[in-house]
Amino acid sequence: MPEWYYSPVPTIAFTQINHLNLYSPGINIFDVVNRKHQKLLVLSEYNRQFNYVTVTTVSYDRLYQNLYDQLNYFILGIVLFYLFTLFFYIINHKRDQRMTNELVWSANHDVLTKLPNRYFLKHKTEDWNEKHRRYSALFMDLNNFKSINDNYGHPFGDKLLVIIAQRLSSVMEKHDYVIRQGGDEFIALTPKPFDNIGKFARHIIHIVSEVVIIDNITLYPKITIGIAHYPKDADTLDILLSKADMALYKAKENKLNFLEYSTSLDEASKKRLDIELELRKAVKNDEFYMLLQPQMNASTLQIEGVEALIRWQNPKLGFIPPDQFINIAEEIAEICEIGQFALRRACLMVINVWNETNTSFTLSVNASADELLQENYVDQVLMILDETGFPNHKLIIEVTESLLIHDVRKAKDVLTNLRLEGIGVSLDDFGTGYSSLSMLKGLPVTELKIDQSFIADMMIERQNLLLVRSILTLGNLLELKIVAEGVEEEAQVFELQNSDCSILQGYYFAKPITDKELVTFIQDSNPENTSN
Ligand code: C2E
Ligand code: CA
Ligand code: CA
Repeated sequence: MPEWYYSPVPTIAFTQINHLNLYSPGINIFDVVNRKHQKLLVLSEYNRQFNYVTVTTVSYDRLYQNLYDQLNYFILGIVLFYLFTLFFYIINHKRDQRMTNELVWSANHDVLTKLPNRYFLKHKTEDWNEKHRRYSALFMDLNNFKSINDNYGHPFGDKLLVIIAQRLSSVMEKHDYVIRQGGDEFIALTPKPFDNIGKFARHIIHIVSEVVIIDNITLYPKITIGIAHYPKDADTLDILLSKADMALYKAKENKLNFLEYSTSLDEASKKRLDIELELRKAVKNDEFYMLLQPQMNASTLQIEGVEALIRWQNPKLGFIPPDQFINIAEEIAEICEIGQFALRRACLMVINVWNETNTSFTLSVNASADELLQENYVDQVLMILDETGFPNHKLIIEVTESLLIHDVRKAKDVLTNLRLEGIGVSLDDFGTGYSSLSMLKGLPVTELKIDQSFIADMMIERQNLLLVRSILTLGNLLELKIVAEGVEEEAQVFELQNSDCSILQGYYFAKPITDKELVTFIQDSNPENTSN
């Protein structure tokens, strides 16, 4: 508390005060020391009119104390203010950071599988090129994923993708990483030595193909891998990936599990493009022709039927075997036109041979899945039969199991309609694909063709012999005709005859031949049936 003195004259003994101070006009401020030796601050005002001095004193100790108290409050206020600001800043910053992290994460990751995505890959590239002077890209694609989606639905397909992604992540080691490129495609980058990549690819394939059970459905997923090496095959990631993709494409085409890129693939892709361009004009330019390969009754060794096999002679590319152009024709949607040509030409040729040899046998014509699943396929077949005068019950349409993978329900409908018209249905290359003997029960097929790979090895590998025998036993139980394809040796003929195989086809009897050659073949093997 300040001490106040109101007095016409100073009553306190301000011994040290210079009275001039007190009686100077206006307000005066000065220091004094009191009797207790305390330093005081004095404030005085002299009123001349009334000769009256107002004096206020306050000790410096108190003043300082007050100042310290005020200062403490002030400092405390400032500290609290800064603490609050800091607190809010940290909270906001953390929230912003979290949101930024989430945004960055989702831009760089695939929501379904939680794997990094292709944007991540793009950003990672420069680091990779700098960090690893040599690395490999593995382009991976799940086989038949489209048909899995079509048959079991997209939620099922999604669950499968998540499992595949987990399996792929589990095989990645330090410095490797895997991303989802999109759909059923994944890409892995690894700095492993190039020599070890084959082993790595085999390991991935092994892990991915372990059994999967989703919603009580059992699957054995398969993955195909195309591989390219940096900087051996390409000097940028984009080119590297396109080379790995090309290797993947070739691996699929050749039914390989994985394939490493080589420059010959570039040549192959150029050839493929040439084939594609030439194929588009081939039917119109009449470049295709048909050969017929006899199918022999296993007991009588007389001709029972023929399989029509297409041939393509192109003026620019020369002779191209069907294995090299049928799948391209499927991809560029030329196969339907080619298929109609094959059926029409084969019907006409066989009718001619019947007439010339006074015989009658069946005609088997290959149809690819794309052809068979097109709208009005059965109507088109019936139209050609009508047009050529070929009897329905002498025609057999050969389909492969891949047809069933595309769309089982539609495939069954088409096959049933063919059967209703009296046309036979043969399941070609049996044993190579996914179908089992048990699923045959529900299929409207009349014939099975055991794939030639089993026939080729059956006299060498006992496993194959046992497999052929069991196909024959069960096929006979289901009352199906069974054709053994690729019969080349007498020993195979004996074995197949003993195992109750119905029909034999292969070079042992005849290669695919022209209709003229077929006439001679029939006349030579059975001279009584010839008309002249
Ligand atoms: P595929 O239907 O399995 O035809 C059998 C293949 O085995 C034919 O090859 C035939 O020449 C060959 N072959 C027959 N007997 C023997 C043998 O004893 N030993 C060996 N090593 N091979 C034998 P090709 O004519 O080259 O036909 C290959 C594939 O092209 C066919 O396999 C078929 O899938 C397809 N193809 C042929 N013609 C047509 C057609 O008109 N339409 C369609 N969609 N595909 C066709
Ligand atoms: Ca065939
Ligand atoms: Ca076949």
